[in-house]
Amino acid sequence: MALLEFTDRGIYCAKGKFYIDPWKPVDDAVITHAHADHAYVGHKRYLAHHLSREVMLYRLGDINLQTIEYGETVTKNGVEITLFPAGHVIGSAQIRVVYKGEIWVVSGDYKVDDDGVCAPFEPVNCHHFISECTFGMPVYKWKPQLDIFNEVNSWWRQNVENNVATVIVGYSLGKAQRILQNLDLSIGQVYTHGVIENTNDALRRNGIILNPTTRITQETPKEDVRKGIIIAPPSSVGTPWMRKFGPYSFGYCSGWMAIRGAKRRRAADRGFIMSDHADWDGLISAIDATGCEKVYLTHGYTASFTRYLNEIGFDAHEVHTLYGTEDDDSMEVVESGQVAVGS
Ligand SMILES: [Zn+2]
Ligand SMILES: [Zn+2]
Repeated sequence: MALLEFTDRGIYCAKGKFYIDPWKPVDDAVITHAHADHAYVGHKRYLAHHLSREVMLYRLGDINLQTIEYGETVTKNGVEITLFPAGHVIGSAQIRVVYKGEIWVVSGDYKVDDDGVCAPFEPVNCHHFISECTFGMPVYKWKPQLDIFNEVNSWWRQNVENNVATVIVGYSLGKAQRILQNLDLSIGQVYTHGVIENTNDALRRNGIILNPTTRITQETPKEDVRKGIIIAPPSSVGTPWMRKFGPYSFGYCSGWMAIRGAKRRRAADRGFIMSDHADWDGLISAIDATGCEKVYLTHGYTASFTRYLNEIGFDAHEVHTLYGTEDDDSMEVVESGQVAVGS
């Protein structure tokens, strides 16, 4: 039997009796990162990286959670589990599973470019690599982060000069911190929507140092906010909450901004093509760097990407999972839920 198998509950290790990122309740869950499509409620025990701790407790409530460092190994029923940085968001990990010399790696979500905020992706040698391929099409090719933030900062500066408020949208774990840490704070102050600030607070409790932010409340003077920049979640787009800052210019940060339809659909004034997932070249280089014998594609453009990998000489297999991306409409639903619950 294979060391890891794909079941209707998630990725399962029968030898070790644990699941990785299961979407149905299990006894033992190893979690790659705190995004909603990977960290579900209802498991008896959780294992994750230290820096996922506070965000998971905030999002999932009072769970039985063990956390470890990158490079640290936990053994379950003779199977060794070790975490390595995935470069996706703060606390995200690839999970290496070893039994009698056979090595599997589950990437979760990952990106290969160093964003300066989370621990950068590390290739891990393995026999079997389980990879995402969210942006597994040649059209997805990311610009250097510095270029993107030069655009963001000059757009913000322009808005301040025009006395127009600036709203920048990105999901709350990952994109929001990446934006926050790369804004030019000589332009103005950073204001946050409650959903964003709750995640920032959780990360700060976890010891992460983030740039200063001000949570927007009923009392926050609108005129002050107009001189700064507002970081808001996708769920706030077009809501009365956002409209009260008008006139404003609204920028959307997402890998999907590379496709014309997405930008029109969201009516953003500016689309910044920025993702926490690997682009086409990033995926191929990451898979190649593992030296794997077999690669399994869990989510994204799985069919076409699998076909392409087989054409260029990999032994690639498409597998069925329930992982989506935080970067799209599925996550916006989750974030709306949080707004409904949290405020
Ligand atoms: Zn993710
Ligand atoms: Zn995901």
